[in-house]
Amino acid sequence: CGIVGYIGDKNVYPILLKGLQRLEYRGYDSAGIAIYNSSLNVYKRKGKVSELEAFVADKNIQGHLGIGHTRWATHGEPNDVNAHPHQSMHGNFVLVHNGIIENYARLKKDLTAKGFEFRSDTDTEVLANLVEYFYLMEEVEDAETAVRLALSKVVGAYGIVVICKAERDRMIAARMGSPLVIGIGQGEYFLASDASPIVEYTDSVIYLNDGDVAIVEKNSLTLKTLQNIPANFKITKVDLSI
Ligand code: GLU
Repeated sequence: CGIVGYIGDKNVYPILLKGLQRLEYRGYDSAGIAIYNSSLNVYKRKGKVSELEAFVADKNIQGHLGIGHTRWATHGEPNDVNAHPHQSMHGNFVLVHNGIIENYARLKKDLTAKGFEFRSDTDTEVLANLVEYFYLMEEVEDAETAVRLALSKVVGAYGIVVICKAERDRMIAARMGSPLVIGIGQGEYFLASDASPIVEYTDSVIYLNDGDVAIVEKNSLTLKTLQNIPANFKITKVDLSI
């Protein structure tokens, strides 16, 4: 339902928390965050953002790279396990997803036959494991390639943001049918499903196009298509009416 992400020098947790609060108007049943510090930590909870906030109060939430999500369940009941972010079986990937992976049952069956196991009932966890499958099994060298290969097998709608454990300097975002906005700061980038979590930090944004993948680092941004062709983009001043 709602996505927020940040990479830069600021402390990520307050940005994620505020972003999730800004996204609450969309409605949701669960909320979660992933923050990369000495390890890649995932905290998620059924219920309100305020419940997530209470849950992480005594946790390690320092860090400068992270993602957050408010979920509106489509596949799998609202509970802690089905909440996002979702982690791949071997822990290489953590991702948040808006939308629906329509062919998830088929993909899940294929992945199960290849030895993958699933904790949740979501379509999203299938995508996390599909990315990991390409990353591990096909000897793909980087996360971005694994993400593009996985998405080429997906039928459905998505806005996603992915963190790879081995690539702690970047986030990978992609969209098809579900909006995703990149906010451009000074040595920092913001990601969100709409501009509301971004506007207090920057009014310079890029609205990702369908079929595009963004590789977002602290000081660099690369946009390409799922077919690995450089993508055109336009930096615009944020339109608050959207
Ligand atoms: N289909 C996903 C789920 O049920 C994402 C739902 C959403 O957009 O929040 O977990």
